[in-house]
Formats: sequence, C-alpha cells, structure tokens
Amino acid sequence: MLDLKNLTIEKAREGMTKGEFTSADLVSAYLKNINKKNKESNSFLEVFPDILEQAKRADEMIQKGEGKELTGIPFAVKDNILIKGKIASAASKILENYVATYDAFVIKKLKESGAVFVGRTNMDEFAMGSSTQTSAFGVARNPIDPTRVPGGSSGGSAAAVASDMALVALGTETCGSVRQPASFCGLVGLKPTYGAVSRSGIIAMGNSLDQVSPLGKNVRDVEIIFNAIRGKDVMDATSLDSSLATEGVGGGNTIGIPWHLFESGVDAEVMENFNASVEKLKKAGYKIVDIDLPYSKYSLAVYYIIMPAEVSTNLSRFDGMRYGLSKEGENVSDVYKKTRSAGFGEETRRRIILGTFVLSHGYYDAYYNKAWRVRNAITLEFKNIFKQVDFVLTPTTPTPAFKIGEKMDDPVAMYLCDIFSAPANIAGIPALALPSGLTKGGLPLSIQFIVDHFKENNLFQIGKKFEEML
Ligand code: GLN
Repeated sequence: MLDLKNLTIEKAREGMTKGEFTSADLVSAYLKNINKKNKESNSFLEVFPDILEQAKRADEMIQKGEGKELTGIPFAVKDNILIKGKIASAASKILENYVATYDAFVIKKLKESGAVFVGRTNMDEFAMGSSTQTSAFGVARNPIDPTRVPGGSSGGSAAAVASDMALVALGTETCGSVRQPASFCGLVGLKPTYGAVSRSGIIAMGNSLDQVSPLGKNVRDVEIIFNAIRGKDVMDATSLDSSLATEGVGGGNTIGIPWHLFESGVDAEVMENFNASVEKLKKAGYKIVDIDLPYSKYSLAVYYIIMPAEVSTNLSRFDGMRYGLSKEGENVSDVYKKTRSAGFGEETRRRIILGTFVLSHGYYDAYYNKAWRVRNAITLEFKNIFKQVDFVLTPTTPTPAFKIGEKMDDPVAMYLCDIFSAPANIAGIPALALPSGLTKGGLPLSIQFIVDHFKENNLFQIGKKFEEML
C-alpha cells in the first residue's frame, strides 16, 4: 500500500528508481481516490483517459535510466493551462468544448521531464473568484470540511492535492489564487516573481499579474516544481532568464511585520495563530521588526482597477468567431451579444463592465492611470523595505475556509479575501504561503513570507525551517 498522505516528490522518485513501485502503480492509487472522492469534491472537471499510458511511458524512461526529477510524478493541472489535444475551458461555458492546439510552456517543460497529467481541475471562471463558486461547472469542496469552499481560483487543484487525488498541482495566480486555496486546504503555495515563469499557453486574465504557481504538501515539492518550470521563453516577452532568478541563499534573518495592515477585519483565531507563529520564529533566532508599508493598503483597490481593465481587453477575443461557443444571430453584433451573454457568468461580466468603464475616455486618467501610479509606489515601497528587512510576514488570508454559499451575494466581501495576497502580486514579488496550524474546529491556517524579486530560494529556506517549527 502506498502511503499517499506522506508521499513527496523525492520519496516517489526514490520508490520508482528503486523499483519498489511504478508510476502506473502510483497513478492507479490516485485514480482509486479520484473514483471514490471526485464526485462529491468536484475537484477535477476531467480525468484524462490516457493517464495510464502517460505513466507507462514514464516507467519506460525510468527503466532505460532516463528518469528525471519529475518522471512519473502525477500532476493536477488547473483548467486554464493549455495541454495540446485536451480541453481547456477555464471553467467557463464559453470555452466548454475548446481543445488546446498547443502546450503551455510549463506543460512542455513538464512533459520533457516525464511528468504525468492526471486531469484538469475546477476553478473560478477565468480565474475570477476566491472560492471556486463562479465555476460554470459547480463548486469544488474543501476536503477538510465539504460544507466549505476550498478557496480559489485554483480551488480544484488545491482540493485534489489535499485529498490525495494527485501528488502535486499547477495553479495560477493573478491575485492570491494559489496562496489562498493553499491556505484553506492546508498546503504550500508559491507565487513566483512576475516573469520567473512563462505565461505562454495560459488563458490570460490580467497579463501584468498572471503567473503559473505550484501547489504541494510541503515546501520542497513546490521548490522542485518551480525549478522545473521557470525560465526564459521566447513566446513570453516578460519572462526572464532563470539565471537572474533565485541567486544566492541565506538572505539574512530579519522579518518585518506590517501590523497596520491587519488592524481590523481579521478573524481572532487567525490573529492568535499568527502571533504564535511570530513567537516560534523569534525563538528560532529570527529578528522581528515592525515595518510600515503605507501604500500597500491600497493594493486591493489598485488590483480591482488594473485587473478588470486587462480582463476586459483579454476577454474581448471570445466573440463567437474564433474560439469555443458561438450562438447564431442576425448580424455580427448580435452574434457577439448572444454568444457572450450565454457564455460568460455573472462575475466575469461584472469585471468586463468594470474594466471597460475604467478604460473609457474621461475615466482612464482618473482610474487606470492613477492605479498604475499607486502600483509603482507600492513596488518602490517594497524595494525600499527590503533594504531593511529580508522577509515580510503576514497571515495568508483574513479568515479560514468559509461556508459554501457565503459571500456570493457580496462581491466586495469576496474581494477582501485577497487583502493580504494583493501586495505581492501588485509589486511582482514572490510570496510563499504555508500551513501554520489549525483552528479549534480543525480548519487549516496559514502564514505567508514575501521577499524581494528573484529571492525564491530564501523563501524555500525559511519555509523549510518553519515547517520544522510546527
Ligand atoms: N480572488 C482573485 C480574484 O477574484 C483571484 C485572482 C487570481 O489570482 N486568479 O480576482
């Protein structure tokens, strides 16, 4: 019997290399769990019919001595990441039957290393949401408490890993979409430096923010995936040479805490756990200092101007002419109207309207340009703070996982889930969310470390140390 609960990439790799089990065995074990659990949890929108073939190919690589770090490792893949020949719907009706014609850069890299793709996971429609409830294909459930959401938008990916339906997963972040579900499901999630990972083959939401982000049960797994998928790609002009990234480890031991960012609206158990985590870090020898990030409190406001602007532009391509759904109409604009009305959900439409408004003549300067000026101030503020401290520490989310149905009639309450995630996305800097304990009712809690551009290695180092303190 494979102990999936405690399985890591390195343990799986060792077991397969020593011939204790094959990738086909591993995949079969996950499939058994999927058959048992996925109907209720709705984590996978599709389990790929060819997983055993993929696993057998990986086993051949291993037998020939050509196995690499991720050969035979089962990945769950968020439904907005293109895998050639597979549907990629972004959990939207408009792309329900859209089949990808090429591999995303990250998929190409993982294929080269022999990884196995188990299936595509549920998410908020076009990655807009914090609970998987805006998915056109039904909510995914939190495996720790099925009456609660797994978080979002990469909720299906997180739920799949947390309930042992895949060893690890790929998600994407535009603003917290991997860290927040990681936090709700008791996992580790990394949002890399903007540009560290290519966006080629990702269904775009907000181009200046989107970043493929790994999810796993521990820091080491996330580190391995990040190292496998990062790097310069000619298809994404904003991607960067990986030699720039993650240079040097051991970035000091000063942790700054912007206490003023969590003055109100934070759950009492989250605060209690955060304070306890700070004490653990102090005991371990870290120097804790108070810091002030006066502009960062505007991160979420800035996000809800820049992101919808980019969303409204990106989603204009779904017009019934080129991809996916196409409704019949009397003329071109009627086709547009009917297709988009039938294909997009409420939240998606809300953001298209918001984005069109902030970009419209007369409001462009007042909203969009102003938001960019504040964004630059936030980025600069972090650059300066990292001259004084090595890490910034906050809770990952203001509350633990909430009930299904909650916040759905109050978009602003839903947006506030990302109050702590937003600064890192806005500034383009990396952040690592990791489990920090449980509520009295047994729900996962999480803290996040934020560092300067390209310092992912420092995140992995402190993350591993923190795992030992638990
Ligand atoms: N909660 C964020 C939003 O609704 C999630 C975006 C993301 O990271 N994909 O926009």
